[in-house]
Amino acid sequence: MKIHEYQAKEILRQFGVPTPRGHACFTLDEAENAARELGGSAWVVKAQIHAGGRGKGGGVKVARTQQEVRDYAGQILGMQLVTHQTGAAGQAVRRLLIEEGANIAKEYYVGMVIDRSRQRVVLMASSEGGMEIEEVAAHAPEKIHKVWIDPVAGLTDAEADAVARQIGIPAAALPQARACLQGLYRAFVEKDAMLAEINPLVLTADQRVIALDAKINFDSNALYRHPEIVALRDLDEEDPAEVEASKFDLSYIALDGNIGCLVNGAGLAMATMDIIKLYGGSPANFLDVGGGANKEKVTEAFKLMLKNPGLRAILVNIFGGIMKCDVIAEGVVAAAREVHLKVPLVVRLEGTNVDLGKKILAESGLPIISANNMADAAQKAVNAALS
Ligand code: GDP
Ligand code: MN
Repeated sequence: MKIHEYQAKEILRQFGVPTPRGHACFTLDEAENAARELGGSAWVVKAQIHAGGRGKGGGVKVARTQQEVRDYAGQILGMQLVTHQTGAAGQAVRRLLIEEGANIAKEYYVGMVIDRSRQRVVLMASSEGGMEIEEVAAHAPEKIHKVWIDPVAGLTDAEADAVARQIGIPAAALPQARACLQGLYRAFVEKDAMLAEINPLVLTADQRVIALDAKINFDSNALYRHPEIVALRDLDEEDPAEVEASKFDLSYIALDGNIGCLVNGAGLAMATMDIIKLYGGSPANFLDVGGGANKEKVTEAFKLMLKNPGLRAILVNIFGGIMKCDVIAEGVVAAAREVHLKVPLVVRLEGTNVDLGKKILAESGLPIISANNMADAAQKAVNAALS
């Protein structure tokens, strides 16, 4: 689960990471009031969307007067912000962060992810802040310093200081850098993050170290123990089909192909997408209806897939284990009738009561294309999508 920058900064503050003072705003009046309340002579107007690269896309502006704050807020609020992470359509800006401006002497990168092969959180730090870390990794990997953090000891003072020195933080600022790195790590662990990033971490002209940007992604499987994180969810930033799917307990991810996939089990769903690709097709979605797929769930799944205007065929691939094939077949037939299905439907069933299931499909009077195995199903779906 993703959150906004201003929310990530609030969390980091709770863990002792210094950040600029700022206020989240939804209107121009709020933006101007925020600037007045913050005081000073420079402010930053920042678009809040769940994507990075906002600076390059025109979503981060430094203002010198309160009128400028209002003007920039007017430009950014409501804009369709396009960055390398949003795709060509961009993302509508509905919230702003108004912050006191920082006088930047140097920008650094620090981030943490889980390194599964080492079973540890890895801290990555670089003197090359502000840019995309992927670029640094590709062209100057020696400039990324890594520390694999011992889960029992945590990030020690010595480790934090060593990495801060490696990226060029001056000695006088090491205690503040330490607070940033250790705070980031404690936030990561205590909030069950999957990724936490400060880019840039900056050294100010007066030698303070502060988090100028912040990004935290959380492990959705751990949200049950963080209601305070769930409360930060912003549905406007999520794919509407995926939000709809989550209401029905369906695991759905929108993709850009044209063959809708309805599958039980995540592994089988992945294999189904692979085999569609193998035969030259392209999946429109990942969809795992889970083990307890009843008629209602199957119908909702059909409705979700049909919202995609580019959909050309549907492939239902079900292995009836706990779930019986005849129950699934009845669900598929009922759902296809209810949504007045117009695109070709290929169904592959296997497992318990498979013969009865196939009989129900054959006798439904619906133009269902029955397949005998996965390869057959994929080829038929690919052909159906082409015709
Ligand atoms: P991102 O582009 O989405 O990663 O947004 P950031 O929050 O990282 O902002 C992009 C860039 O704007 C930063 O790398 C800074 O160079 C600049 N910036 C952000 N805040 C300030 C500020 O307070 N003062 C100045 N001078 N520049 C800032
Ligand atoms: Mn950034």
